[in-house]
Amino acid sequence: MALDLKNLTIEKAHAMLVAKEISVAELVEAHLAHARIADKEIHAFIELFEHESDRVAKAQAMIDAGTATMLTGIPYGIKDNILVEGHIASAGSRMLRDYTASYSATVIKKLDAVGAIPMGRTNMDDAAMGSSTESSYYGPTKNPRNTSRVPGGSSGGSAAAVAADMCLFALGTDTGGSVRQPASFCGIVGMVPTYGAVSRSGAIPMGSSLDQIAPFAKNVAEAKVVFDVIKGFDGMDAQTLTQETRAKLAEKPAGKVIGVPRHLLEMEGINAEVKANFDASIEKLKTLGYEIRDIELPHAHLSLAVYYIIMPAEVSTNLSRLDGMRYAFRAPGKDLLETYMKTKYEGFGKEVRRRILLGTYVLSAGYYDAYYNKAIKVRSLIKSDYEKVFASGVDSVLVPTSPSVAFKPGEKSDPLSMYLADIFTVTANLCHMPAISVPSGVDSEGLPFGIQFTANQGMEETMFSIANDFEKNS
Ligand code: GLN
Repeated sequence: MALDLKNLTIEKAHAMLVAKEISVAELVEAHLAHARIADKEIHAFIELFEHESDRVAKAQAMIDAGTATMLTGIPYGIKDNILVEGHIASAGSRMLRDYTASYSATVIKKLDAVGAIPMGRTNMDDAAMGSSTESSYYGPTKNPRNTSRVPGGSSGGSAAAVAADMCLFALGTDTGGSVRQPASFCGIVGMVPTYGAVSRSGAIPMGSSLDQIAPFAKNVAEAKVVFDVIKGFDGMDAQTLTQETRAKLAEKPAGKVIGVPRHLLEMEGINAEVKANFDASIEKLKTLGYEIRDIELPHAHLSLAVYYIIMPAEVSTNLSRLDGMRYAFRAPGKDLLETYMKTKYEGFGKEVRRRILLGTYVLSAGYYDAYYNKAIKVRSLIKSDYEKVFASGVDSVLVPTSPSVAFKPGEKSDPLSMYLADIFTVTANLCHMPAISVPSGVDSEGLPFGIQFTANQGMEETMFSIANDFEKNS
């Protein structure tokens, strides 16, 4: 039977699978067949997994035995920096183009346990650094909503794969917005969990105090389904929260108060249509019975500057292991020093090299106090601003996901203008809060807007329920 992939959701596919209207093999093949054609233009995938027959058979057996859950047999895309045993994981980088994972990330094991089917590696910015997926070693991805625009980044391939109906959900990583911003550009849902809610074991690290693995989905409820499967304590990631800590964090009562930091919308570079859409979203929340409260976050405007000090510092330490000696790419030189230098130079693109240099600079003796230490202090001030706001009874802080809609390739060729695209997303990572981007209509050219709900640590349930209310009434 011909499947209507465009209107297919996890929920509908699940219903068809358990009613035996379709088999797992047929569902997966329908998505692969569509991707083989549609991806010639979009380039969401670096590689499609064509040989997952063991996983498909296992999922079908679960359905036949009546033990299927929502994600059993559901095909999903995986950002190229998340390890799947036996497959290459290159982080969109020349440096790791031949690196084959010797184990699967914890999130993949959890998805394997419920019978979800990995469909392929999705495209991403070089080593997850960027906001447009233009810097991938494999070439750029196009935005399925308008192919003359970027899909956002760094997880642009995952966002495009879901938006173009090539898979029913996808995984990305979010260090400073890399799931929420591309979700917003492509008109789908993307979230970042509370830091420590989801294990990063098997994700190629970027900034370890910021990184999280997170889902893209076609709607809020399905993002929650995926989050509920992948979350949980893991002995392989020392930062994951225990069940008790999570329960304690979630004890706070939840209501219907939305905090609006209007002063942040006054910053330079926020598109006028984005502001108008933001105001319209506030009006909509009012009609849904939400109390809108003006709030002050006196240090939040410093988030971007703080992020672009702490993140490169962590990048420079994390990427030092890729030296061409132990594994991955090597560009041999006439001596050891030249080999080190050539390997880094040829293995990584310009932006990654820039961040390594920035990172080593802010961590160097003499500058450490002036930059890194100061950034750490401001980070805690930003965090305490949010703590005060949540303590005063606010349930969620509302900001746009991005200061603009999807831009054109090449439009942000100087690094600073690209960094400014992250102005509303980096705060959640810095403060370890969950946040979700939900579609909120389109601009005059039909390009999607995203609105972002941030909640207090551990308060994903509140965040999902508000986001769900908003979505249902869109
Ligand atoms: N765009 C941000 C950056 O380039 C976010 C990256 C990410 O979340 N991986 O740092």
